[in-house]
Amino acid sequence: MARFILLLILVIIVGRAFWRLVDGVVEGATGRRPSGRTPQPSVHMVRDPVCGTFVVPERAIMLANGRDQLYFCSAGCRDRYQARRASLA
Ligand SMILES: [Zn+2]
Repeated sequence: MARFILLLILVIIVGRAFWRLVDGVVEGATGRRPSGRTPQPSVHMVRDPVCGTFVVPERAIMLANGRDQLYFCSAGCRDRYQARRASLA
């Protein structure tokens, strides 16, 4: 029984250490800490399926495609995508 309790304590300690490590990685990746190595906070970016440019969803031109959403760098790319899809259909 004592061994079981010791094992349980060990698991809790290891688990807490693991989550502290995960928190550290997440903080580093999101740039919440001012001492982060990357000066810019990492922004989630999406790829323009037409020209391959990476765009920030908030500033991109969005097109709903069924369940998912597509993002384009410009209206021209969106139009090209729609024209391509129209030709396939
Ligand atoms: Zn584009």
